[in-house]
Amino acid sequence: MCGIFAYYGEKKNAPHLVIEGLKNLEYRGYDSWGIAYKNGGDIIVHKEVGKIGDINAKDLALGESSVAMAHSRWATHGGVTKANAHPHFSEHNEIVLIHNGIFENYQEIKKDLIKKGHKFLSQTDTEVLAHLIEQHSRKHSFEESVKMAVKEIEGRYAIVVMKKDEDKVIAARKGSPLIIGVGKEHGEYFIASDIPAFLAQTNKVIYLDDNQICVIGNKKINFYDNATNEEIKKRIIEIDWDVESAEKGEFAHFMIKEIMEQKDTLNRAINQDPKNIELVAKAIEEAESTYFVGCGTAGKVAMVGAYLFAKISKKQIHFVFGSEFQNYKDFINKKTLLVCISQSGETADTLEAMEIAKEKGAKIASIVNVENSSIARHSDIVIPIKAGPEKAVASTKATTSQLAILTLLAYACDGGVEIGKQLLIRTASQINDMLNPRYADHIKKIATKIKDIESMYIIGRGANFPIALEAAIKLQEVSYIHAEGFAGGELKHGPIALISKNTPVIALVANDDCRKEILSNAQEVKARGGYIIGVAPTNEEVFDFWIRVPDVGATSPIVNIIPVQILAYQLAVLRQNDPDKPRNLAKSVTVK
Ligand code: GLU
Repeated sequence: MCGIFAYYGEKKNAPHLVIEGLKNLEYRGYDSWGIAYKNGGDIIVHKEVGKIGDINAKDLALGESSVAMAHSRWATHGGVTKANAHPHFSEHNEIVLIHNGIFENYQEIKKDLIKKGHKFLSQTDTEVLAHLIEQHSRKHSFEESVKMAVKEIEGRYAIVVMKKDEDKVIAARKGSPLIIGVGKEHGEYFIASDIPAFLAQTNKVIYLDDNQICVIGNKKINFYDNATNEEIKKRIIEIDWDVESAEKGEFAHFMIKEIMEQKDTLNRAINQDPKNIELVAKAIEEAESTYFVGCGTAGKVAMVGAYLFAKISKKQIHFVFGSEFQNYKDFINKKTLLVCISQSGETADTLEAMEIAKEKGAKIASIVNVENSSIARHSDIVIPIKAGPEKAVASTKATTSQLAILTLLAYACDGGVEIGKQLLIRTASQINDMLNPRYADHIKKIATKIKDIESMYIIGRGANFPIALEAAIKLQEVSYIHAEGFAGGELKHGPIALISKNTPVIALVANDDCRKEILSNAQEVKARGGYIIGVAPTNEEVFDFWIRVPDVGATSPIVNIIPVQILAYQLAVLRQNDPDKPRNLAKSVTVK
């Protein structure tokens, strides 16, 4: 959510460089953008409402500079206007600041600063911090002022700040990601909310942790613990992402590229260090209670996990959405295990659940795509899903890899991890056969037929019930068609009233003990005029349109979601929506 990118070094084209870097963070979701750079004795700011993708930096007539920062804003406080876009200045344009997150106590601080004569030009919480730093800088050094101000603010944030007459860039974080890229030239640094911003320049990174401050200046970088003011040593990590894996290549959009990549990503998830799986399986066995926690798509994956454990390992697992976890805090203790599922590893609601559980002494395991993310670093055990960068906002390949890991875990808790592994290897190979252009063309026929409808529904039973919920999210996210998922058996208790002539209903069918019942539910819909799209291993009489999936048993959630991902993508394209950057959404949701 929102993008931060800053450069400090010797290159003279820093303003262009940060604009290009910011374009690599577009997938995070935003509504306005801006840059600031030092030029002569001044700081120049340029901001715009709208997208940066089509902006040619050359048209902006930017000056030369070797220090610059760029920001894409996902508005939380104050409307989407040029005045509210970042960077924000302090009084007399002394300090300039970009910020990701929310300052919860900004109103009190603002009132106090207004009394002291500060004038504000935006409605944002962000501008307040720029003024607060400037207020302190009247008596203290710039570095001291940032440290003091950061101690006063509450909330989650990542900030980058510079001052007119100082050769310094300072960054701080609490709860929102911020990563330092160490450039190839001596004294060259990048600061970004995600690695793709500087991946073309360097793969050497330093992860800033919560309550840490990074001061870059005089060709040096220093880190401080903001609570103790002590200097800390940080490790440089070399990451193995390549630039191509973060690019679209021959595909029109990241979403379809990532859907197609599932041929490989599933294998990467399955063939990983078995120790990680063993450790989490053991922790589940030892725990008195286990909670699977996730948000959005990962929340639905968590729910599938609970079904898989009930079926395969006959074990009860609780699943909770990150934002709802606090309601369960009285049941959490030292014998609880939390398994956090997150693609980005930065999801604020999941991080908060983790904090609550940690305070109660619970053990934390996590299943993440971004290794070294906040969730990974604060976990006792981590299972990396190894899906590679997922840039489309709507999750696809990370979803199926998370499902594969949960399947392995469920089998591992039943003592048969090898059985699970073999089943998943077979599934991956069948998905490989399934994901071809003919398959996508077949699904396109139904996309073309239903592209103008207002509402559609998805039904499933057992582990395919949460997949129906996930299918609905996928369709909502990119097609903007009203879509809802239901447990097949729940239809008759209300939602069936929504069915009229030709209402499309996707029935997710697996060759399992729910098969007959879900087909009966499809019949109930059909009897009321509904148009049944069957996602199933065999064609059934009740289907008006059949999308074939392999007959894979316990891994049916993995194969059943893929055709819906393709359908959602095609609907988005046919309806002229941007499938990679759906409206109002952000890739990694770092605000609560
Ligand atoms: N709360 C800030 C604002 O609304 C920052 C939002 C963001 O993370 O982009 O301006």
